[in-house]
Amino acid sequence: MIKSIGKLFALAFGQSTAGGQSFHPSQTCTECGTRWMRTNEKPDWHCPNLDCPAQLRARMVHWCRPGVMDIAGGDAPFIAQLVGSGLARDVAELYRIKVAELAALPGMDKDSAQKFFEALTFSQKRDAWRMLYGLDIPLVGPDEAKALCRHFKSVDNVFAASAERLARAGVADAVARSIVHWHSDSVNRKLVKRLFKAGINFKA
Ligand SMILES: [Zn+2]
Repeated sequence: MIKSIGKLFALAFGQSTAGGQSFHPSQTCTECGTRWMRTNEKPDWHCPNLDCPAQLRARMVHWCRPGVMDIAGGDAPFIAQLVGSGLARDVAELYRIKVAELAALPGMDKDSAQKFFEALTFSQKRDAWRMLYGLDIPLVGPDEAKALCRHFKSVDNVFAASAERLARAGVADAVARSIVHWHSDSVNRKLVKRLFKAGINFKA
């Protein structure tokens, strides 16, 4: 409701602010056509459509980055190739890809397929804070993810905690609220479950 009111305001007045949100008067996402937006939680102009193909790819690239799950080879062009070929649509699906499927991609050979597969397998055992950071929850950087995993001992416990308890672990109120908000979305909750099933380490 608040979101749609915000949109109506934006349509009527070009750029405007309602409920901490503002909509760019002219800039739209080149991939899905949604108008760019910024919020208190995510202050940079961005496409707010969670199903936007560009957003899905960006989240997968973030997951693979050296400071996150550190999956060598998971750069933007390769992730685009994986998504384009239908092998993976989100980070959990990366862990279902078989070596033979990777090797069959244009430009891939057996060795590079094996290397990427091993990098994925290795990433399952990484520190839990990396996967929490890898989920790309607004305002949750490496410092926040580390503090929360240290305090709560597992990613499950972080998501089970209320905003008040999260804040007591030493993160800002806005960060705590952002985590609770993110986890209130059923798609995100399912993603966390699928990552657990995929063998990702949740224990700090
Ligand atoms: Zn978009």
